[in-house]
Parts: sequence; structure tokens; C-alpha cells
Amino acid sequence: MKVLIINCGSSSLKYQLIDSDTEEVLAKGLCERIGIDGRLVYQKAGCDKEITEAPMPTHKEGIQMVLDALTNEKTGAISSLSEIDAIGHRVVHGGEKFACSAIVDTAMIDALEECTELAPLHNPANLIGIHVCQELMPGVPMVGVFDTAFHQTMPEKAYLYGLPYEYYEKYKVRRYGFHGTSHSFVSKELAKFLGIDINHSKLIVCHLGNGASVSAVVDGKCVDTSMGMTPLEGLVMGTRSGNVDPAILEFIAKKENLDLAGVMNVLNKKSGVYGLSKGLSSDFRDLEEASASGNVYATKALDVFCYHVTKTIGAYVAAMNGVDAIAFTAGIGENAPIVREAVVKNLEYLGVKLDEEQNQLRGKNTKISAEDSKVAVCVIPTNEELAICRETVALLK
Ligand code: AMP
Repeated sequence: MKVLIINCGSSSLKYQLIDSDTEEVLAKGLCERIGIDGRLVYQKAGCDKEITEAPMPTHKEGIQMVLDALTNEKTGAISSLSEIDAIGHRVVHGGEKFACSAIVDTAMIDALEECTELAPLHNPANLIGIHVCQELMPGVPMVGVFDTAFHQTMPEKAYLYGLPYEYYEKYKVRRYGFHGTSHSFVSKELAKFLGIDINHSKLIVCHLGNGASVSAVVDGKCVDTSMGMTPLEGLVMGTRSGNVDPAILEFIAKKENLDLAGVMNVLNKKSGVYGLSKGLSSDFRDLEEASASGNVYATKALDVFCYHVTKTIGAYVAAMNGVDAIAFTAGIGENAPIVREAVVKNLEYLGVKLDEEQNQLRGKNTKISAEDSKVAVCVIPTNEELAICRETVALLK
């Protein structure tokens, strides 16, 4: 099957066309600056990137340009749209309604619209992507794959906040968790790579990218994760604060003369390693370089980030009463040996031993713990598009 994967953001969309039989990416790219001006990046497998600037007032023009590029006579990856057998959509928030991926139909769209309140920045864009594909490719089966679904197995004690229970009953205020497609994919890959039976395993996945979260996975099912009702909870991230004392919101609002939206903007966009490094960068490449040349704020930012990951791993070892293996994934997890080293340094009490040479490798599944390490530590590159492709095919078969 040829599956088109669509990941719609508010002003951008990423896409991949995957042959599900070979799992080969036939073409990929993105539309940027939707609603501003418009830029299409298209890359057929084995070819250079092509960049086209053209007006994209809405996602519709963007997706139309993607379809035109895919079927272009000279550089297209397919000769006609009829070759696209299915479409897999990444959807950020499935609330409590979706504990697994679902075929897109009217009932599913209605349910998704009800979840929009929980992810006002993301779900509307995801819904637009679904509607536009229905319009431009009528009859092609579509599947929604949710960032929250994998975490729906969390027990009540892990997902309830210490808030009046009525808030959960009335408004569904609870922890949902995100990056679920990645946590699900990486936990399965980790077990497969190590030859562990996932149905009898205790795994921890550290998805460390610009957004970052850790999850605890017992017997293949998520039992806890660090993000909450929104992706702001948990670890210190690129620009997001992660956990803070909630009373700080009122304190900062008064001191800086900010309203609630202003404080939320600080927590989402001006905090994390970016804020800690005094606005130097949210990118770990910049922070590592600055830290190496003596910038103390970059060093502080890296220290705080790594400390929180270590602490969260410790919490999940306690939650699971043990751990068999730990995986690092996403931009930082896959590419920053310094971060991995700093994170596992304080896991000696678990019998974790790092293989420093292996820890320098990147780009493929790699065991970075020493042979006599009691807990296996690995780098497992994530592949959310492939995960969405697999889910789509599995549901449609
Ligand atoms: P993601 O959100 O998974 O795409 O991760 C993006 C982040 O990964 C970037 O903002 C960087 O902080 C980090 N990153 C990417 N490449 C490297 C690298 N070679 N070394 C350190 N960090 C990296």
C-alpha cells in the first residue's frame, strides 16, 4: 500500500509518502508559512530537495501543491493520485475518547471536535487537514493517529491531579500525556532490538526533543508519562518551563504586570533551556558549544535539563518497581551524547554502566550501556511517520 502521512500544524504541514510493504519513504517534505505567504519543500527519494514559493492562503492550497508535486510528470513519486491507497493523519489530542487509532468517519470527526477544547492550538489544524483531504481525495480511506492514545492505559492514580474531583468529571481535567506515537514506537523497537518479550518488560522511554517527555511502559502499556493535560507539564524543555510551583504564576503576574495570557506565554515560549540560558538558544547544539566555551548560563541550562530527566527516570523506576531497559530518542536523545552521559551518571545505583565509545554513535539503534550493565540503555531513533503508516495499514487491513 502507498500511504500518505499528513501532520498539520497551525501554519505548516509535514508529509511523507510511504510504501508500507517495503517501509520505504517515496517522497517527503513540508509546507511552511501557510496563511502568510507559502513555501513548499518537496523531496523525492534519491533526489535533491525542490523548493517552491507560492501563495498558500490556507492548508487547502498547501495540500493541493503537495499532491501536484507527488504526481508531477518529471519529479513526482507516483503517476496518479489513484496510487494513494490511504492517508494517515497525526492528531494531537484524542482526549479520553481515543485509546487507539481510529478510521476517520463522521462520528470520529464529531468526537475529535469535542476534544478541540483540550488542544486549541493543535486539533483545529489537524481537523483542517482531514477535511481538506476528504475534499481533494474523496473516497480514500483515512486514519487518525493520536499523540495521546498510547497513554490512555495510565491508571487513575497516575492521571488524576490533586484538584477537586468535579473538575475531572465536568471538564475532563486530568493528565493525558503526549508524544504517544513516539513512545509506543520506541518502546516496541527497544524490546525488539534487545530481544526482550515486551509483554513481560519494564521500559522507560526518554523522548528528548524540543518538546520532551519520559514514559514508563509495563508489558507494552504506558503506566505513567511526564506531560499532563497539556504538553507544558513535566521536564524542562526547549522553551517550555515544565513543572513549576503553580503559585509562581500569580507571583510573576504581579511582579511583571502580566495577565494570564502573558504568564502562559512566558511559560510556553520564554522558559526552558532558552530562558535559563538568558535567551541564548533553545537548541542544544548552541548550548553545548556555548557551554564548552565557558558560558555559565548555557551550562546551568544543560545541568537543569539533564537533572530533571534523571529525576523523572528515578520516579518511574519507583512507579514500576524496577526497570529492564531505558531508551533515548528524538533530536536531543538521539544526537547529544553529553546529555545521555549526564542523565545516566546518577543511575549507578541501578547498576547502569555506560559504554562511552558506543555512546558516541548515532543514526541507528545502538546499545550504549556496557555488557555488564544491569539495565540496558539504548538509543532508538524515533520514526513517528512510519509508526502512523503502520497504524493506518493495521486498521485498514
Ligand atoms: P526534535 O524536536 O525531536 O526535532 O528535536 C529538535 C532538537 O534536537 C533541537 O532543537 C536540538 O536541541 C536537538 N538536536 C538536534 N541535533 C542535535 C545535535 N547534533 N546535537 C545536539 N542536539 C541536537
